[in-house]
Amino acid sequence: RSGADPLLRVEGAVMQFGGLKALAGVDLSVRPGTIHGLIGPNGSGKSTMMNVLTGIYRPTEGAVVLAGSNRLDGRTPSEIALAGVARTFQNVQLFREMTALENVLVGLHHAFRGTLFDAILGTPRRRREEREARARAMAILDFVGLSNLAQVEARNLPYGKQRLLEIGRALALDPVLLLLDEPAAGLTAPDIAELTAIIRKIRDAGITVILIEHHMDVVMGLCDRVSVLDFGHKIAEGGAREIQADPKVIEAYLGS
Ligand code: ADP
Ligand code: MG
Repeated sequence: RSGADPLLRVEGAVMQFGGLKALAGVDLSVRPGTIHGLIGPNGSGKSTMMNVLTGIYRPTEGAVVLAGSNRLDGRTPSEIALAGVARTFQNVQLFREMTALENVLVGLHHAFRGTLFDAILGTPRRRREEREARARAMAILDFVGLSNLAQVEARNLPYGKQRLLEIGRALALDPVLLLLDEPAAGLTAPDIAELTAIIRKIRDAGITVILIEHHMDVVMGLCDRVSVLDFGHKIAEGGAREIQADPKVIEAYLGS
């Protein structure tokens, strides 16, 4: 693992909002097949980094490179999603009136591109693709522990299940890299245990994960490596244990 080339490389990322540098020149290197933690006090730039990685923000300076050569900075969110980078948001963003199954189907639609002709005429190809899409969506719901809730509208799911559904919808994009922004926020202890097991399963399925998380026990239990941001600067990086004992990290959290 440690010898592998990085799956994602960020070089000198700067994100300027007026007079504020939310990212002040951050380098990041994420190894394939790992869960990489991104932590830091409130306002340190974690969500901004996610938004830069997924094209919601165009960085003021710097480069984002996937798999050695694929430049992501300057590309649109949908181009970046098609390149294999999926995400969830700090606040749940689901289609609230749609069922769990339909939410995952929305994520899948890019994979099944029948022609308009197929769609209008309901051709055999179209019907076959719809069956395949539903089967894949059900498999994804099963993977995140929601198969028995497939027909429930998202707004009627308990909060912890909504978070898992968001992850399922992101997985429907068949990503190589999954970005999770505070997935455990607001969850109960049993929900967090379930979430943790699913994130580990995602990594074991070969999907690289970047995890922003405030619950330190979740970070310690899951992350192969952790980067720490403070006021837009990376102040530390290393194994989870090493990071937890780092005086600079402790000071940043105490000061917040
Ligand atoms: P974190 O996720 O680590 O809590 P954020 O990345 O959300 O922090 O924010 C980092 C800093 O950038 C904060 O000071 C925040 O107010 C600022 N910021 C984030 N997004 C914007 C924006 N769109 N416009 C202006 N300032 C922003
Ligand atoms: Mg945030």
